Amino acid sequence: MIDVHCHLADPKIFSDFSGVITRSVEKGVSKFIQGGVGPDDWNRQKEIKSKYPNETFTCFGLHPYWISSHSHGECAEALLDLELILGHTDFMGELGLDFREKIVGAKKAQQILYFEKQLDMAVRFKKIVVFHFVRCHDKSIDILNRIKPPLGGFVHAFNSDYKVAQKYLDLGLLLSVGGPLLRENNRPLHETIKKIPLDRLLLESDSPDQAPPSRGVKLNEPWTVLEVATKVAELRGITSEEVWDAVKRNSSQWGHSLNL
Ligand SMILES: [Zn+2]
Repeated sequence: MIDVHCHLADPKIFSDFSGVITRSVEKGVSKFIQGGVGPDDWNRQKEIKSKYPNETFTCFGLHPYWISSHSHGECAEALLDLELILGHTDFMGELGLDFREKIVGAKKAQQILYFEKQLDMAVRFKKIVVFHFVRCHDKSIDILNRIKPPLGGFVHAFNSDYKVAQKYLDLGLLLSVGGPLLRENNRPLHETIKKIPLDRLLLESDSPDQAPPSRGVKLNEPWTVLEVATKVAELRGITSEEVWDAVKRNSSQWGHSLNL
């Protein structure tokens, strides 16, 4: 089984990435698509990939968090670095927008600028894109209607209602859901999951973040994606096996070259 979005290179778990991978493989989750943050994270991802070339998939890009916490000059420099290594990554991301006040601060224009610049690169390099969109859907959908990466991609940690979901589906993107689905009071997302076509659904842990309630305060690990699959199955009235069959088909559409 596959976790389509986790951060094995996150400093909170990087020192034990072999342990994290081993514990998940033992539980049946044996493929891991990472989410990219910034240059230091890309280097750590490369280290993980060199040890687990068949299990892990790299994802290089400038995360909206990273863009908001760095200067214009630093972003421009990182973009040049990204251009040099983009030919060597499996996926591109996390690209996107995060307009939560504590994240975006005074950097809204900078987030938009570097999102658009990276989308242009995704078009030129023909990359599958991992998107991060929080409280920005009008803007992100407007931009994606103008700049469309030819291979598409998926919106990670989707956590909104079906009206918003429909707009990303119309753009040809897949939707990945994780820990927030396991919150009992998350009705809008529960209702959305009942309606998303199964052939557009992916599952993720977002490890080490977004731990399901059952994990208490502990760091999240990729195998908790199994709980997410169980919840999807319960909401849709199907079996977990049927959910996983769909997710495996959906992720393998990106080609045998990735060996997904
Ligand atoms: Zn992420």
